[in-house]
Order: sequence, then C-alpha cells, then structure tokens
Amino acid sequence: MYNLNDMDYQLILNELHELYTLEKDKGKVASYIPELKKVLPTKFGINLYTLSNKSYGVGDFNEKFSIQSISKVLALTYALQLVGKKLWNRVGVEPSGDPFNSLVQLEFEKGIPRNPLINAGALVVCDVLISNLKKPKENFLSFVQKLADNSNLSYNLKIVASEKKYGFKNAAHVNLMKSFGNIKNSVEVVLDLYYHICSIGMTCEELSQTFLLFANGGVLPNTNERIISKSFTKRINATTQLCGLYDEAGKFAFKVGLPGKSGVGGGIVAVHPGKYCITVWSPKLNKKGNSVKGLKVLELFTTKTEASIF
Ligand code: GLN
Repeated sequence: MYNLNDMDYQLILNELHELYTLEKDKGKVASYIPELKKVLPTKFGINLYTLSNKSYGVGDFNEKFSIQSISKVLALTYALQLVGKKLWNRVGVEPSGDPFNSLVQLEFEKGIPRNPLINAGALVVCDVLISNLKKPKENFLSFVQKLADNSNLSYNLKIVASEKKYGFKNAAHVNLMKSFGNIKNSVEVVLDLYYHICSIGMTCEELSQTFLLFANGGVLPNTNERIISKSFTKRINATTQLCGLYDEAGKFAFKVGLPGKSGVGGGIVAVHPGKYCITVWSPKLNKKGNSVKGLKVLELFTTKTEASIF
C-alpha cells in the first residue's frame, strides 16, 4: 500500500500511464457523432486534483476533449440550485440498467426518466433549465465557468451541428416525453441546449477542478462559495455513483468504489469526497459507451491507493 502523501500521487499516475500506454488498445472511438471520430484514438491523459489545491497530471491531461455526458452532472446541479427538490417530480433516481440512450423504459414509465444521468433524464433537466433561465445557453456556460474557476471554456459548435444532424434518437426521447407532458418547451429548443451542454470542451485537469465542489460538500474550494447544499451534494454523488456509468454503474462501483461519470468523448471523472477528483481521458470506448482505459486506470488507482468510499 502507498503512503498517501502528495508526492505519491504523481508516482502512481506515472506508473498507471506507462502501464496502460503499453497495453494494446481495445474499444472504438465513438462514431455515431461523426465529429467525435476525428480525435486521435491514442490520446491518453490522467489528472488528479486535491482539495488542498494540488494538481498532478500525466500524458494528454492538458488537452481539451468533448465532455459529452459528463455535463449531465453539472446540468443536474444547476437545475437543483434553481428549482430544488421539485425536480424529482419530473425525473427519478433509480439506476436504469439500460444503455444511456435507451427508449425502452420511457414508455411504460409514462415519460418520467429513471434518472438525470441518462439521455432522457438530462433532456428533462435541460427543459427545466430553459423554463427557469433568461438565457439558458449563456447562463449554463457561465455556471460551468464559475465551477471550473475558468473563463476559457466554450461550446464546440462543430460538435453541436454534428450531433444535431444525426440525433434522431434524442429527438425521439424528447417527443415521447412531450407526449406524456414531461417536456414544457419546444422539442428543438430542448435538443439545442442539450447538444450545447454535451459539446463543452475541457481538459482532464479542468474537469477534475470543476468537480471539486462535489468532493467538498457543495462549496467551491477556491472561493468558499456555496453552490449547492450539503444535502443536495450527497444526492448528486449518490446519483452519480448509481447511474453515472449507465448499465455498467454496478461494475464501476464494484471495481472502483467512487462516484463517477463517463462521456462518449472518452472521459471519466471520479470523486473522492473530502479528498480529490480524478479524471482519465482515453477515447476508445467499450460497448456500453465507457472509456476502456479509463475504467482500467481508475480500478487500479483505487486498488493501489487502497482508498475508496467503501
Ligand atoms: N451527446 C451524447 C448523446 O446524446 C452523450 C452521450 C454520452 O456521453 N453517453 O448521445
């Protein structure tokens, strides 16, 4: 077991990076959003950011990638800040056990998505944001910039256009939910915000830093500003733990033991409450849409450090 002083984190990250750089790559870069396919499959970065403001990185940890579904946690946080627990009337908190874009449960559960971290749930969250913000896209970006303590974050409009062009299934989700009365705004406007929030580009380091408030009871460590209550932070982390990796969330809890969120851009961020956030980026995905190397790195990281929430 490692002695968890600050120096060791860098050593562990270097070791993991070396080990998995050598390993033969499995998985496939997401191609259903054509713009995502342009990324080099061998990109690989890891960053760990502690609550004591120390950052450790290796490989491509300073290169921006599309955060995709990782943004769903940030949208959930903003919606809870705006409307509080009323949100749970429109979206559940149960793991779906189904792929992130599955429509199956949505019809027999009458347009109420299982949780806010699958596509259906995030689309309802976007609908809530639109109903409660003057300028949803601008306001959401400013919210994320504040969490990240970084004004150098933006939407990637090429990715937005690419996803819009092929987003038939997301459109089906919104239409189905609207037929049940669980979407209040126009289908186009909801999809537009959803594609924008998914398109944000961040580096591993920026993502770790952005998620630090979830390791810190809802307070931004740099400014001490409270973004969300302790109680909502608990619920966000619980939802992330149970639903953040879709139909692989059980395996992720089993192997890694930290709340985590993945995206089809190949990023996974995990939160250790009270300690740190760790982000891995490697674009090749398994069949469930989760980064192959990301899963391996995080599993070995918590194994080596013998530190998880359990
Ligand atoms: N924008 C993607 C989609 O809607 C997000 C999916 C993901 O990252 N799992 O399909």
